[in-house]
Amino acid sequence: MDDSLRELYQEVILDHSKHPRHFGKMEHPTHEADGYNPLCGDKVKLYLNVDMDGRIADIKFEGRGCAISQASASLMTEMLEGRTVAEAEKLMGGFLHLVKGEDAGDLGEDDRERLDVMAGVSAFPMRVKCATLAWHTMKSALDGKSALEGGAPAKSE
Ligand code: ZN
Repeated sequence: MDDSLRELYQEVILDHSKHPRHFGKMEHPTHEADGYNPLCGDKVKLYLNVDMDGRIADIKFEGRGCAISQASASLMTEMLEGRTVAEAEKLMGGFLHLVKGEDAGDLGEDDRERLDVMAGVSAFPMRVKCATLAWHTMKSALDGKSALEGGAPAKSE
């Protein structure tokens, strides 16, 4: 393993991949989506519980695959819990810029620091797909059911 790869597989990533946060199934999610990265074989299934105020009250994932994909999913769930959907979308956009080596100026300073462990993948195009899998799956989950857009579930009446 060369130095740049060693740097990529930082301790934080290994910790998240070995001890994933928010790992498991959710019984009655308001949103869910499956993600698959055929280049590496990574799988992620994401469950969300978005409350009436449009806030992500609970988030869980199941999955298997390389350390990067699972660590990224774990880190994402940890960071998105408690945020509004709008805040989540902003964070997702910033993350995608970060791992593609683009300007991630739309990220807040704290978020930028926490996500910095994933920034190293920008030098490894194959690994970018691994790192972004959970985040694209998150977007699918949110786009899949637009009923909660604007904060009020359409079925509440
Ligand atoms: Zn992978």
